Amino acid sequence: MALLEIENLHVSYGAIRALHGISFRVDEGEIVTLIGANGAGKSTTLRTISGLLYPDKGRIVYDGVDLVGKEADAIVRMGITHVPEGRRIFAPLTVRENLEMGAYTRRDRKEIEETMEWVFELFPRLRERAEQTGGTLSGGEQQMLALARGLMAKPRLLLMDEPSMGLAPILVEEIFDTIQEINQQGVTILLVEQNAHMALSVAHRGYVLETGVIHLEGTAKELRENPQVREAYLGGD
Ligand code: ATP
Repeated sequence: MALLEIENLHVSYGAIRALHGISFRVDEGEIVTLIGANGAGKSTTLRTISGLLYPDKGRIVYDGVDLVGKEADAIVRMGITHVPEGRRIFAPLTVRENLEMGAYTRRDRKEIEETMEWVFELFPRLRERAEQTGGTLSGGEQQMLALARGLMAKPRLLLMDEPSMGLAPILVEEIFDTIQEINQQGVTILLVEQNAHMALSVAHRGYVLETGVIHLEGTAKELRENPQVREAYLGGD
């Protein structure tokens, strides 16, 4: 069953039209990836779902409810967390304080502690660095912290924007292994990536977005084997 259904979504920045009527769905339990080049509209799609941008037209149906017009804060409370591009962590705060910020919609201390324990199990390196300030972490650790902070809201649907950006290949593998593990623990994931190779290695299904239009869709295997995808996004290999 679709947890998220996007129907004919149009989004503009003033006169610049970024999304020209895209439709796609994410079923409960899936990892779905949106792949596409720079400027295709991937981040715009995530920002619109999370209530940061208002569409010109279209519907965003989550768990049977249209999100269009709802405040970003209400959308977080409904179980959607957005981990934006570029590791926007709070540099002067410790790792633990950063994680606590991620739980801002929640009140129950005991449950927050349990979630923190879950997050530290997923990211043992963050536990070791719990009292260190965010700004002193390496790039890879900051990316882990951004993801871990998103998990502190206990999302049902996680929106991830370019988790691989700027990371060394070994760290990219580590982050993607963790994304798979988070999904296996029951979190549905919509993953936006320029690194199509990695995205299609963890996703169940995917969509190819090109200048605001969905050009192709299929299972990850179908997309990996598609000649156009291989040529344009997988380096022809
Ligand atoms: P990237 O990987 O580079 O972030 P993307 O696929 O996520 O690419 P978007 O950031 O969604 O692409 O951008 C889609 C289009 O909207 C692009 O043409 C971009 O120039 C434009 N755009 C994005 N943000 C803004 C903004 N704040 N103001 C004006 N135009 C914008």
